[in-house]
Amino acid sequence: LQRDQKQNDSVNLSLLGGLLVPGFKKDSCSSRYQSYLYRKASPYRPSLYLLSKLRAYEELHKRCGPGTKPYSNAKRLLKPKQTGDLESEGCKYVVWMEFSGLGNRIISIASAFLYAMLTDRVLLVEGGEQFADLFCEPFLDATWLLPKDFTLTKQFSGFGQNSAQCHGDMLKRKLVNSSSVSSLSHLYLHLAHDYNEHDKMFFCAEDQDLLKSVPWLIMRTNNFFAPSLFLIPSFEEELGMMFPEKGTVFHHLGRYLFHPSNHVWGLITRYYQAYLATADERIGLQIRVFDEKSGVSPQVTNQIISCVQNEEILPKLSKSGEQHKQPSEEDVKLKAVLITSLTTGYSEILKTMYWENPTVTRDVIGIHQPSHEGHQQTEKLMHNRKAWAEMYLLSLTDKLVISAWSTFGYVAQGLGGSRAWILYKQENQNNVNPPCGRAMSPDPCFHAPPYYDCKAKKGIDTGKVVPHVRHCEDISWGLKLV
Ligand code: GDP
Repeated sequence: LQRDQKQNDSVNLSLLGGLLVPGFKKDSCSSRYQSYLYRKASPYRPSLYLLSKLRAYEELHKRCGPGTKPYSNAKRLLKPKQTGDLESEGCKYVVWMEFSGLGNRIISIASAFLYAMLTDRVLLVEGGEQFADLFCEPFLDATWLLPKDFTLTKQFSGFGQNSAQCHGDMLKRKLVNSSSVSSLSHLYLHLAHDYNEHDKMFFCAEDQDLLKSVPWLIMRTNNFFAPSLFLIPSFEEELGMMFPEKGTVFHHLGRYLFHPSNHVWGLITRYYQAYLATADERIGLQIRVFDEKSGVSPQVTNQIISCVQNEEILPKLSKSGEQHKQPSEEDVKLKAVLITSLTTGYSEILKTMYWENPTVTRDVIGIHQPSHEGHQQTEKLMHNRKAWAEMYLLSLTDKLVISAWSTFGYVAQGLGGSRAWILYKQENQNNVNPPCGRAMSPDPCFHAPPYYDCKAKKGIDTGKVVPHVRHCEDISWGLKLV
């Protein structure tokens, strides 16, 4: 009986409190079943309502996804001389177009998935070969990959803010009304960082109402736009039930959707076992300096050291001659620091510093950095595998420090479910004071939110409308859920 109980407990743990469903082939995606062995249980429980929405979504995806009759019919709607006698059998879609760096991809796909759940659409992702190499399929007996022969794929590169089927541009040309939109088979939504005031009308309830009749929405985005969905009255109530703890949207949806493929899981587990497993405490430090050419900057070095020492994430150094109480052998802790960065400069400094000097606590500090790729190389498979493995490894640490503005760090924080310390951005090489601060919630920041009151038809501060949508810690004009 005890053994049965133990087995039940481990099944429950591996399925993350009901977030995941059983039934997947274990060998095809080891991370789905093993991640719980590497990370602490989440401090946040998914709501029963969220679980029921996920189960309903899975049914919808299975019924309407690629390979099904409704999918073929819906695809036929996209053919130019479509006569209109086809039924899409209630299946509607949102297609996420491949765009931007990996962190941006992950947080924007999570937003698109939330939007799909709210609007009863099936989410399909354009990922090319790489996507399947990085992530497992998240939905049982179905694929979320947009098939290669998708009717509009060849037109994707031409989709932009000025293209004929762009929602924002149509608004600008006053072509959007219920009768014009209801005859459309597809619309392009431009929701990337550079979108304009017309594109931003996507976040108005009235436009959402019109979009309901369009079977295919093709979306280009690199943002975590969930916070602004919470400000749309028609979504508000449902979102409140799905996420009673508001700042956990990415935390839950990220853990639900993004399971490292077996290749990436190998990178993660080998690294973890070799460098992190035996430590008493694991610390993640993500160093993202956007100005790649600058090399090691003394200001950034100071900022990092002040942050980790002031916040007591790492101990201060013991100066020679200083007397400290000697801790007993078993009180001496091994702290393993996982540093991720495109270059090695900062980790070399920390490594040398903690080798040359004892610490005031006598704790021993190990500094480890898996890769130093030099610069972003999104087109390369192994580069992306490493980037994904590193985000995931950071998410397994006990304490996490991330860099301002970086979606790479947001993913680590969100998956881990921690409130990280954020290293504020240095402007003009000045010293930042304080060097870092604690995040309000594990969710990412929406870097480019709209500032518009759709009802009053005027600009407003959307960070001051409801208490759970606020300005971000690292970007004053951004919005985040707390
Ligand atoms: P962001 O630019 O920081 O918001 O994050 P993105 O992930 O969207 O884009 C940055 C890309 O640069 C990553 O996806 C990686 O390809 C690369 N990159 C940046 N920092 C690191 C790092 O610490 N480790 C690795 N392996 N790659 C990185």
